[in-house]
Amino acid sequence: MADHAADASDATGACAHLTDVEAALLDAGRMLFAAECRFVYAAQRLDQLPPAAGPEVAFAGRSNVGKSSLLNALTGRRALARVSDTPGRTRQLNFFDLGGRLILVDMPGYGYARAGKAVKQDWQGLMFDYLRGRATLRRVMLLLDARIEVKDADVAVMELLDRAAVTFQLVLTKADGVKASASERKLDEARTLARAHPAAHPDVVVTSSETGEGIAELRAAIATLAD
Ligand code: GDP
Repeated sequence: MADHAADASDATGACAHLTDVEAALLDAGRMLFAAECRFVYAAQRLDQLPPAAGPEVAFAGRSNVGKSSLLNALTGRRALARVSDTPGRTRQLNFFDLGGRLILVDMPGYGYARAGKAVKQDWQGLMFDYLRGRATLRRVMLLLDARIEVKDADVAVMELLDRAAVTFQLVLTKADGVKASASERKLDEARTLARAHPAAHPDVVVTSSETGEGIAELRAAIATLAD
């Protein structure tokens, strides 16, 4: 059998050879995210968490990192994450069911300069309790803005994930906002960070919700965690 199954165009239009395995993974990602995605639950306190059912993948990042845009790009829905745009959203976990095979969990943004003490406490409180206690949580996608440097708050969350022993994967967002050379440097930096954290997955995904770069690859990574 041929060791390459398909040619795929990346965001720049360049062709890359894909192995059978890579093509199958991309296909699995496409299939998973073609399913209906619906908002099922919001939790503001630990005792409000929905019963742990299927596997969960959570999305976390600093406020403004592009998390809502990424969730919308992944699911192909313009306003999936809009439900979480209501006042107070920073303090809750939003659960979305993806075709009955996976739960996507939208975590509140952290580290916003103007965020009050309460939000910080929530991240340490509800968020840490959720992360540490959720047996069905398969991975946290930790978003980092490719255009700006990694902040102390990002490192603090990585350390928290290490302590909670929850696997996390770094995802660079807004890659369209930096030149290719800077994007490469960011990727190297993120990989170095991943190596330094015991709970980090070694692969880093580079994405742009604007151009669609990396969306198929991120869907593929998430599909490996679905039922
Ligand atoms: P959230 O606060 O993390 O949910 O971030 P949003 O998705 O609301 O995005 C924050 C800002 O970044 C908005 O102004 C978006 O238009 C912008 N943004 C989000 N994704 C991208 C991207 O891929 N490229 C660029 N250039 N801007 C983006």
